[in-house]
Amino acid sequence: MKINNLDTIIESGLCVGCGICQSLAGRETVTMEVSPDQRLRPRTKKPLADVAFQKIVQVCPGVTLRGPTKDQAGPAGTTHNTFGPITCLYRGWASNENVRFHGASGGVLTALATHLLESGKVEAVLHVEASAEEPIMTNARVSTSARQIYDGAQSRYGPGAPLTKVHHLLDANCVFLVIGKPCDIAAIKNLARFDERVETQIPYMFTMFCGGLPSLQMPSDMAEHFGVKVNELSRFRFRGDGWPGLTHMETQDGRSFDLTYQECYLSENTPWTYDAQFRCKICPDSIGELADVVCADDGSVLENEKPMDRAVPGLSIIISRTPKGEVLLRDAESSGAIVLESLSEAELVTMHASHIPRKIGWPARTLGLVLAGNPTIKVRRFRRAKAILASGPIDFLKNLIGTFRRVRRGVVVEVGFNKS
Ligand SMILES: Cc1cc2nc3c(=O)[nH]c(=O)nc-3n(C[C@H](O)[C@H](O)[C@H](O)COP(=O)(O)OP(=O)(O)OC[C@H]3O[C@@H](n4cnc5c(N)ncnc54)[C@H](O)[C@@H]3O)c2cc1C
Ligand code: SF4
Ligand code: SF4
Repeated sequence: MKINNLDTIIESGLCVGCGICQSLAGRETVTMEVSPDQRLRPRTKKPLADVAFQKIVQVCPGVTLRGPTKDQAGPAGTTHNTFGPITCLYRGWASNENVRFHGASGGVLTALATHLLESGKVEAVLHVEASAEEPIMTNARVSTSARQIYDGAQSRYGPGAPLTKVHHLLDANCVFLVIGKPCDIAAIKNLARFDERVETQIPYMFTMFCGGLPSLQMPSDMAEHFGVKVNELSRFRFRGDGWPGLTHMETQDGRSFDLTYQECYLSENTPWTYDAQFRCKICPDSIGELADVVCADDGSVLENEKPMDRAVPGLSIIISRTPKGEVLLRDAESSGAIVLESLSEAELVTMHASHIPRKIGWPARTLGLVLAGNPTIKVRRFRRAKAILASGPIDFLKNLIGTFRRVRRGVVVEVGFNKS
């Protein structure tokens, strides 16, 4: 199957819902809408010229993924075989206690973004926020004040299309920071190959470790569990406000409901599932190798190896991936924006071992797609040979055959809009 329109990208299970195709083509031609599978996907409203479509394909992170170049990744010896470029590694948190409490982990992404804005290194921050009108939805947000950045803090475990506003900001000559999932950052890196404004106008990119992106069905089922319809909600917060933070719902008539992290994601037989999109299952970069700084949860505040049911001040794992990211972390520490403590690579690997199977399984899975006749991600510079070696022949074959069979059974097919 060849990729010749946006619906093929969706129906092949490759779309991540980043929204950069809308940004490239313009809203009158492509709009991000909720698909029959309850994910944000691009609907083609007017036929796309071939040149415009080819450009989208080259920027689309569902289809094209290029790993860090040697000069991006810092000095030789700083790239971990599985966890990617690490120019420095810390445990840390936002010095401001409100930010630390409000953020998803230790509020570090929010503190760093605020530091960049207040030190004049950027004029705006492109990230996401909960929708005020439909609280389970997530909107792209351009923040130009510390308060606005703070309001966007938390992890949104749902579709958000953060990149729909990229060209609006580039055209306005704005210098801005992008915070997004690793695949969102990959889209910006792909764009930089065609648009030289990216280099000067997007001087910093931040991301997070990413366990995959569920559909809108998950929060909708969580609300339904309490007998609440999504149109009755006035607020839906996935987590934050303490670590790991409660999933918190409020209704327009004043009721409120909470679920602990364990109830949400670690309990069996719940009426909801973390239904991550197919692209997440073959993701070569769920740990954000392309950003300047990446943050993750610090599991050292676990109780009995599980996130506790009560909220405590959060801790973040912080990795700088580039020399620029490293300088930024030291600046932010000196200016009092964040607190940093040392962390070893061994602690990182132990805490985030759950990411290893995907980081070493993607070559077999993407090959399984090709052999089954499906389009796949074109992946460059993600240490394919090392991943295959680390996976070993048995797991390689298991992943390859498993993906092949799933595709042949039609399991991965996602429903598009069929309007191209
Ligand atoms: C879908 C998803 C899956 C994750 N999976 C893991 C995991 O497997 N392991 C792990 O250690 N950590 C995971 N995280 C990351 C973790 O939850 C924290 O986001 C991270 O540690 C940063 O915390 P913080 O307190 O520094 O961020 P905050 O200060 O709370 O800032 C978070 C920033 O990220 C932006 N943001 C939030 N959600 C999204 C989104 N969906 N798309 C784009 N931007 C967004 C916000 O707008 C905000 O600017 C995941 C996050 C998400 C969104
Ligand atoms: S991954 Fe992004 S660019 Fe590619 S089709 Fe989906 S929304 Fe568009
Ligand atoms: S797992 Fe990979 S594809 Fe899925 S949302 Fe995260 S970064 Fe994107």
